[in-house]
Amino acid sequence: MSALSKLKERTAEVSRLNEAAAVLSWDQQTYMPPAATAARAEQVATLSRLIHERITADETGTLLEKAAQETAGSDYEGDDAAIVRVVKREYDRRVKVPAELIAEEAKTTSLAHEEWVRARKNDDYKAFQPWLEKIFDIERRIAEHRGYDEQMYDALLDPYEPGMKTSAVERIFEGLRPALVELIKAIRESGVEVDASLLKRKYPVERQVEVTNDVAGRIGFDFSRGRQDRAPHPFCTSFATTDVRITTRFDENFLPGSVFASMHEAGHGMYEQGIPESFNGTMLREGASLGFHESQSRMWENWVGRSREFIEYYFPFLQEKFPESLGDVTAEQFYLAANKVQPSLIRVEADEVTYNLHIMLRFELEKEMMAGRVNFSHLPDLWNSKMEEYLGITPPNDADGVLQDVHWSAGIIGYFPTYALGNLIAAQLWEKICGEMPDTYGRIRRGEFTPLLDWLRKNVHSYGCKLLPSELIQKITGQQIDSEPYIRYLRSKFGEIYKLNGA
Ligand code: MG
Repeated sequence: MSALSKLKERTAEVSRLNEAAAVLSWDQQTYMPPAATAARAEQVATLSRLIHERITADETGTLLEKAAQETAGSDYEGDDAAIVRVVKREYDRRVKVPAELIAEEAKTTSLAHEEWVRARKNDDYKAFQPWLEKIFDIERRIAEHRGYDEQMYDALLDPYEPGMKTSAVERIFEGLRPALVELIKAIRESGVEVDASLLKRKYPVERQVEVTNDVAGRIGFDFSRGRQDRAPHPFCTSFATTDVRITTRFDENFLPGSVFASMHEAGHGMYEQGIPESFNGTMLREGASLGFHESQSRMWENWVGRSREFIEYYFPFLQEKFPESLGDVTAEQFYLAANKVQPSLIRVEADEVTYNLHIMLRFELEKEMMAGRVNFSHLPDLWNSKMEEYLGITPPNDADGVLQDVHWSAGIIGYFPTYALGNLIAAQLWEKICGEMPDTYGRIRRGEFTPLLDWLRKNVHSYGCKLLPSELIQKITGQQIDSEPYIRYLRSKFGEIYKLNGA
C-alpha cells in the first residue's frame, strides 16, 4: 500500500470526526435544549482533541513526507497532489499547538456560546467580558504556538484565508475605504430619500418560512441534499456534499432579515453542494477560503437577490404571499427599499455600501485586542466610538453594539476580514461572468438561474480547496484580489438609485 493511500485513510478518519463535530455544533445552534450545554462542551472538546491528535501524530508527518515524494511531479491540480498540499498545510498549522490547548479552546467556546446568547439577550456585556478575555487569551496562545512572520494576526487569519497576510488585507482596505466614504457622502448629499418603511410592515412568520424555502430552492439549493432550519445567527454547515444545512431567522416586522439571509446562506450551501462528490471523506471537501465562500453567498444575496431584475421576477410572488403588506407596493418601490443606503448598527443587515466599514471596524479592534492593547472593560466604549467615527452613529446598547456577532464567543478571530474580501471577489467574478454571459441579468429577470450556477460550479465549486484563494482568483480572472471591480459595481448601482451624476 502506498504512503498516499495510507495518508488518505488516515485523513478520512479526520474528515469524519470533523463532520461529527459539525453535526454537534449545528445541533447546538438549532435544536439543542439549553440544559445540554455542559454535556455538549465535553463532547465537542473530546472530538476536537481526537482530531488534533490524529492529524498531528508522528505517523501523519511520516506519511506526508513519503506521499510528497510519491506525488512529486504529478499534476498540480490533480487530486493526489492537492491532498498532500492540503493535509500538509493543516499538519503544519496544528503540529506546534498542544492538544490540551485545542481541547481547552473547544470547551471554553462551547460554553461561551450560551453565555453570549444570554448576555446579548439581556444586554449584559459585563457578564460576557470574562469569557471574551479567556477566549482572546487562548487565541493569543494558539497564535504564538503556530508562529508567524509579520504580525500575530497572520496566524489567526491564515486558517480562514490560506496564504493571506494581514498587511495585504490592510493594503486592500486602505484602497477601499476612501471610495466608500466618498460614495456614502455623495449619497447623503444627493437629496434622494428612499422609503424603506414598507419592509417593516407585518409579515407573518409562517408565510416567511414558505418564502425562504421557496426562494432557496428556486435559485438552486438542492433540498434533496440539504435542509433549512432556524438559528439565532444564520449560518451554513455541511457534513457531506449530500448533506448541507442552512439556517435563517425570522422577524415578523422585517422581511429582508429572513429572505436575503436565506439567499445568502443558500449561496454558501450551493458552494458546498457543488463540490465534487468524490471529495467526500477527504480534506478537499471545502471551499478555497472563507473569502471565496462569502463571495458565493454575497453574490446570490446581493448581485442576484438585490438586483432590479430579480426583484421584478420575484416580487409578484411576494405580493401574493403578503397581500396585506405589499398590495399597494410596486416592484420598483421594493427594489429601492431593499437597497436603501443608511449607516446602521447591525452588520448582517447593513446595505452593500456601508457593510465593509463594519468589517474594517472589527478588523482594527481584533488586531488591537490580539496585541493586548485593549482593556476589555473599555471595549464597549471603544466599539461605540469607532461606530461614531466610521458610520456616524452610536449604538444605544451593547446588544446592538459590541455583543451583536457570534464570532468571538466561538473563538473565531481573524475571520471578519474574509467577509469584505468575499464582496471584492464576488465583484471580480461578476465582471467575468457578465463578460462571458452578457445576458446574465436577462436570465435573472426570467428566473433562469441554472446558467449562473453552472458557471460557478465549473469555475469555483469544482475545485474544492485544491487551490489557494490567490491561485483560484488568478486562474479565473487573471488578477489578484482587488477592490476596483467592487467600487465600480457600487458606483454604477447606487449612482443610478441615488442619481449621482457621473458617479
Ligand atoms: Mg456568510
